[in-house]
Amino acid sequence: MSMKLYNSASHKKEEFVPHEPGKVSMYTCGPTVYHFAHIGNLRSYLMEDVLEKHLRCEGYDVTRVMNITDVGHLASDADTGEDKMVAGARREHKGVLEIAKFYTDAFFSDCEKLNIKYPDVVQPATGMIGEYIQVITRLIDTGYAYPAGGNVYFDTSKLEKYYVFNAHDEENLAVGVREGVEADVNKRNKNDFVLWFTKSKFEDQALKWDSPWGVGYPGWHIECSCISMKYLGEYLDLHCGGIDNAFPHHTNEIAQSEAYLGHPWCKYWMHVHHLNTSDGKMSKSKGEFLTVSLLEEKGYDPLVYRFFCLQSHYRKGLVFSWDNLDNARTAYGKLIARIAALTGEEGAAPAALEAYRASFRAALDSDLNTSLGITCLYDVIKARDLGDAAKRALIAEFDQVLGLDLLQKADVLRAQEAADRAAAPAEGDAEIDALVTRRTEAKRAKNWAEADALRDQLKAMGVEVTDTPQGPVWKRV
Ligand code: AMP
Ligand code: ZN
Repeated sequence: MSMKLYNSASHKKEEFVPHEPGKVSMYTCGPTVYHFAHIGNLRSYLMEDVLEKHLRCEGYDVTRVMNITDVGHLASDADTGEDKMVAGARREHKGVLEIAKFYTDAFFSDCEKLNIKYPDVVQPATGMIGEYIQVITRLIDTGYAYPAGGNVYFDTSKLEKYYVFNAHDEENLAVGVREGVEADVNKRNKNDFVLWFTKSKFEDQALKWDSPWGVGYPGWHIECSCISMKYLGEYLDLHCGGIDNAFPHHTNEIAQSEAYLGHPWCKYWMHVHHLNTSDGKMSKSKGEFLTVSLLEEKGYDPLVYRFFCLQSHYRKGLVFSWDNLDNARTAYGKLIARIAALTGEEGAAPAALEAYRASFRAALDSDLNTSLGITCLYDVIKARDLGDAAKRALIAEFDQVLGLDLLQKADVLRAQEAADRAAAPAEGDAEIDALVTRRTEAKRAKNWAEADALRDQLKAMGVEVTDTPQGPVWKRV
């Protein structure tokens, strides 16, 4: 059975059939590295990671490419405002490239803690200027783009269909035409967007490059189109991102990529819905926000957050609260304890194994139903037709996709329990301690007869006492 995945471009669940049998080209919009990623951003990467791992387990050879947005992402999605990187560098009194490196490293360190696999290709946007210029030049030559007022714009009226995702999520469409955003008079159409800036209200752009249209910098959208086409070719199977990226970012990526290529570009669009707090969407620009480091500081294992995310569907908004995270921590702890108790050596009939394996695959094949996948995991743990060894084997397989370190954590828990048992006073220790103390006191009182009698009593109990400069030490012999 093949996977069914909700495709935001067609607004329905579709059978996932990549262009080339057995291979999947997958592109993920990477972070804008002007600050730490918040755990909302990481929900998107985490669910995309589960999808990638599921496809790999299904036997696909997946190539995953991610950009790092280190230039061109302006404060407003309507091409106005300051470059987020410039604002970030000023906030920290550092250079743009310096903070880009710092927050890129921080991002991948967070990913590692959450067991999010490092992509096959990671490309910073600033490393592809030549490619942007080449694509923009062709878009101008073919009439899809026009220079105006110093910038180069994409002409959305040249497309038969520009709004790919709008029937899907009208609310998010409002981003580009937000009230209070000053209209750019150079644009021929309201939704035209900038491919190359040489003029903006913010002249202190840190990084600029020479181009046929003057010294300037690329727009955010062209970065993802070019990076994807460079590494994954003209036909992309799967493009992922958070739901806020559907419009205008992904809509614009499709517009420029298809105008450039002259044919359909990406087959499936997977959008992860937002992590919200009780006061709304989590946002980096809001000042205080939740990071993986904060979770760690508060004593949470980052994988508790992964477990929390897996318990709900990626196409539903998820509400974060400390109470919800505590519930996930308790459930994760109990899960590990139950796995730690699976110490038997018995296996199972192959057919029994296969049935559980099939249910887990079916759960993920059904539009990545991770919470159902976790239910399948509990079914394995309590199964009556599986021995402990068979259960452990299935848990290891499921965990290749779930990424919860289940067997490793269970091993750690077992080792810790054994160490605690060894450190705990054994039965009878208190009695021995008392006899040894009485012997010490008898010796101090020079009552040698009693001291010897006590030594003999201890010997009869199998305990040998040695006198050391630090006092008596006893051991069982
Ligand atoms: P950015 O670093 O702002 O470019 O965003 C990185 C990724 O996080 C993008 O795919 C966004 O769509 C996604 N994202 C932003 N906010 C949230 C949120 N609250 N919940 C889930 N994903 C989000
Ligand atoms: Zn992108």
